[in-house]
Amino acid sequence: MPEQLIVVNGLVIDPKSKIEAVRDVLIEDGKISAVAAGLSRKSAFKGVPAIDAKGKWVIPGLVDMHVHLREPGREGDETIETGTKAAARGGVTTVLAMPNTEPVCDSPSQLAFLQAKARSDAAVTVLFAGAVTLGQKGEKLTEFAKLRAAGAAALSDDGRPLMNAGLLRRALEHANDLGLLVIDHCEDLTLSNGACVHEGPAALRKGLKGTPGAAETVQVLRDIALAELTGARLHIAHVSSAASVDAIRAAKKKGIRVSAEAAPHHFSLCDKDIPGYDANWKMNPPLRGNDDRAALLEGLADGTLDAIATDHAPHGCTAKAAGMDVAPFGVIGLETSLAVAINDLFHKKILTPRKLVERLSTAPAGLLGLKKKGTLSVGADADLVVVDPNMVWTPEPPFVSKSRNTPFINRRLKGRAITTLSGGRVVHAL
Ligand SMILES: [Zn+2]
Repeated sequence: MPEQLIVVNGLVIDPKSKIEAVRDVLIEDGKISAVAAGLSRKSAFKGVPAIDAKGKWVIPGLVDMHVHLREPGREGDETIETGTKAAARGGVTTVLAMPNTEPVCDSPSQLAFLQAKARSDAAVTVLFAGAVTLGQKGEKLTEFAKLRAAGAAALSDDGRPLMNAGLLRRALEHANDLGLLVIDHCEDLTLSNGACVHEGPAALRKGLKGTPGAAETVQVLRDIALAELTGARLHIAHVSSAASVDAIRAAKKKGIRVSAEAAPHHFSLCDKDIPGYDANWKMNPPLRGNDDRAALLEGLADGTLDAIATDHAPHGCTAKAAGMDVAPFGVIGLETSLAVAINDLFHKKILTPRKLVERLSTAPAGLLGLKKKGTLSVGADADLVVVDPNMVWTPEPPFVSKSRNTPFINRRLKGRAITTLSGGRVVHAL
């Protein structure tokens, strides 16, 4: 007998199989084996363990293509174990871990180490991006073919921009031949120049050094030109400025193979919201102006921005207490991304439930070429979330993550993951 579990009476929302209706979902041996109405009433399924999802959404597990798990090197801030448990709690069942660990994940042996660690410690599926350049120094390309053979799911130097356009051109050509997606952190360092917040009136009032949206956009424009030149796919991480959204929209219209993601903090908050000098509101790129935030919402609505990704970046309290100007960049997000998205995109009528699931799960799975993820179709991995879109709660420490650096502490949010399944196993239940 296969191991069975049935999720009954939930509103199944699966953009890929075009379902948005009350259905039962049968899971056998970690895979979705049937999606139909009234399955649980059939005599064949009497006695099968059931999860009641009446009045709830049942959606494919979230695919978060931008996560920092800090292992190896900074296990005090996060590990594969704690980061993936935080993911499970937030309804995220697949994460793409960025390679800016210590040491950098730039070799097959480093990948093998991480994959072994994930096999023993991870609560959800972990994929690893390999670095574009050795040590993420921006000088010499890594061995893409070897990284791919070792299981790298994408390539990125995230945390740092690729300042050398010629190098990025070669990276795109080479990655394209291998079918690997390059994910770029767009930031012209000569413009951002060590600033800690967005350049504008809010920064001026506080006497903080700001970085303009243009620091991002000039590289977005350059990247688009290189994607056009090479014909390669290119993905732009954590888009934050209105002009970047415009550029990506225009590029897509021309048929250039560019995709992009937005982070919950960027579409939910802006620079004026930052209380005092609280470094839990400091990230890179920074929270920008309200017009930028509005442009991100438009981009998410029309599909210019394909995916929602957290840029989950854990930092300990001591580091973050150092003050706005010197504390490290980054905020955690895995435990709140689904809730913030439901609160700010669904309840505020920016996205329909179907589009919301598309941005959080279907589209990122597609960008990473994951055929068994991002859908509840028969044969897919049983990565599934039961969601109460109307549950009101306020995130507060302690978190499952080892870190607590988030601007969403004590913010009232409507929407929450009730139960998360990864490969048919319950990895979170409220
Ligand atoms: Zn980044």
